[in-house]
Amino acid sequence: MRVGRFQVEIFSDGILRLDGGAMFGIVPKALWDREKPADERNRVALDMNCLLIRDGAGNVVVVETGAGPKLTARSQEIFGIDEPPRLLGELARRGVRPDEVTLVVNTHLHFDHAGGNTYRDGEKLVATFPRASYVFQRLEWVDANAPNERTRGSYFADDYAPLEAAGKLELIDESVEILPGIRLDRIQGHTRGTQTVRVSDAGETLFFSSDFMPDRHHLRLPWIPAFDLFPLETLAAKKAILPRAVSEKWIVGFTHDLPRFGRILERDGKLRFDEVAE
Ligand SMILES: [Zn+2]
Repeated sequence: MRVGRFQVEIFSDGILRLDGGAMFGIVPKALWDREKPADERNRVALDMNCLLIRDGAGNVVVVETGAGPKLTARSQEIFGIDEPPRLLGELARRGVRPDEVTLVVNTHLHFDHAGGNTYRDGEKLVATFPRASYVFQRLEWVDANAPNERTRGSYFADDYAPLEAAGKLELIDESVEILPGIRLDRIQGHTRGTQTVRVSDAGETLFFSSDFMPDRHHLRLPWIPAFDLFPLETLAAKKAILPRAVSEKWIVGFTHDLPRFGRILERDGKLRFDEVAE
């Protein structure tokens, strides 16, 4: 997908399976199961999407790194991850080697977004992208390093703690233009430190949702995951962002939908995701 001078691609690191009830919050199963059928363990299949953004001036940005190669067999079984991670293969297919990536952005530090940040090399954990800085919100870093009983199951320190020791962290606060044309905005909802990504040039904007709106089904305002720590703030963010996405004709990519871009169209007060060809 071309956005002015940027080349932006979306691909999936693989499939993750999460409980459908948790994914759709207060929405009755009779409604969500029609949109996304559950398996025999009541789980729905979700892609773990990543972006590759190239600006033609030497900046190579990876947004999200999927579940990565470090999950135990038990975690893989629980989360229904039954294939090896695709991230590095997808980058290679696009002609990008790990040492060519200059910046890694995680929308937040849950294992299905940050798992590919590091890998195990013998006894050591090392950064997957040796030349890159890794950017997250400072609040996300704080919360990931002090998880509580509710959040512990989603944060695996091996995905991010080694980056600090390696001097590869770039912590930001609130809204930052991290590179010319690439904005990160904190949106409290899913976690305190979740951030969205916006790429803009030549009058076009591409928006990557983060988990405050993980797929097209969550365009409906009350469809908010039970995972969200601040559901009413997710609701407020959707009310603020969705009208802009519609009126400014943003190209939108979701974290856990099919790895496709689309635009959000409004008809009779209902929002719909209309895929566009890459
Ligand atoms: Zn997620």
